[in-house]
Amino acid sequence: MQDNPQENSCVVVGAGISGLLAARELRDAGWRVTVLDKGRGVGGRMATRRFGGASFDHGAQFFTVRGDRFGGLVEGWISAGAAAEWARGFADAGGQRPPDGHPRYRGSEGMTSIPKYLAEGLDVRTGERAVTVEQTDGGWRVACESGERAEGRALLLTAPVPQSLALLAESGGFAPTDEASRQLGGIAYDPCLAVMALLEGPSPVPEPGGVQIKTEPLDWIGDNARKGISERPGVTIHGGPQWSREHYEDAEEDITRDLLSFAGEQLGADLASATVETSLARWRYSWVTSAHPEPCLVASEDPPLVFCGDGFGQPKVEGAALSGLAAADRLLGRAG
Ligand SMILES: Cc1cc2nc3c(=O)[nH]c(=O)nc-3n(C[C@H](O)[C@H](O)[C@H](O)COP(=O)(O)OP(=O)(O)OC[C@H]3O[C@@H](n4cnc5c(N)ncnc54)[C@H](O)[C@@H]3O)c2cc1C
Repeated sequence: MQDNPQENSCVVVGAGISGLLAARELRDAGWRVTVLDKGRGVGGRMATRRFGGASFDHGAQFFTVRGDRFGGLVEGWISAGAAAEWARGFADAGGQRPPDGHPRYRGSEGMTSIPKYLAEGLDVRTGERAVTVEQTDGGWRVACESGERAEGRALLLTAPVPQSLALLAESGGFAPTDEASRQLGGIAYDPCLAVMALLEGPSPVPEPGGVQIKTEPLDWIGDNARKGISERPGVTIHGGPQWSREHYEDAEEDITRDLLSFAGEQLGADLASATVETSLARWRYSWVTSAHPEPCLVASEDPPLVFCGDGFGQPKVEGAALSGLAAADRLLGRAG
């Protein structure tokens, strides 16, 4: 398809929550928007995997609401049937459940329900890995591994920042200023190894289906059936950041055995023996450990090139959402 980059148009690289929300704002303002994502589906780190008749959230497990702008979005997602409240707190490592009263939300049928809902009506091209970015007379051209190309006056890079920087560096054309490179280079993330285990019977994870351990070697154990997103019992186990870093390249069977063993010890049960089938996700970029203080970064004003995502402003799902909105505000010349 031949695109006309002169009109108000934008190529968004990444169909995670930040990219999709930005794309919707721009589309609603009359822009032509193309969203490219290398994944098979939309959502990025809001990810749900199905196997053995069970569903597993294996990236983000839940999200909270701190501010009104995000709260308004979440209300809309709940009304649309894309999100639901999960719980008001989880057991900690000692089995206590501090009742802090703050709602934790989930996607209605898993985390991907929300990005799937947000992607409706947008031009989202999945399975398209952007491999080069080139500046044109009127904007930007992005080429994908498949040969697919998209052009727009503006470019929005929403992937974890090291991936966006690698895309620009490998393209060999536009480079951010030294100051912008320094700021972008300071954004860092922890890795997370995530094991999903289909179980032969109900898991020993206590109600409401999560144990928030937040230490090493384990960060989290979630029960996807108690969570209300899986018909069959299955747990998601997240390694702690340090353990995940140290074992990131280990063989799948070793990572799976160790995380099942740690989770079994935590729960006082032989989880490995109850496991029917497993799957592993290696998240090189999970949580932000060092963010840029502003909610987005404009690397070029004309033609516009904006970086956004959870590495900017606040972290987590809420931070990523607000960052996408802030990037759209900048492109639309709104104060935000
Ligand atoms: C294991 C784990 C647990 C988490 N737990 C929580 C939690 O409980 N609560 C919470 O609030 N947050 C949690 N998070 C963080 C939360 O998921 C993220 O902050 C948020 O989803 C980030 O959204 P984003 O749009 O910034 O980035 P992403 O969701 O990463 O989206 C970026 C997209 O860019 C795409 N992409 C990258 N490179 C290219 C390319 N070259 N071409 C095309 N597409 C590309 C990717 O496929 C991806 O879809 C967790 C994350 C992980 C991994």
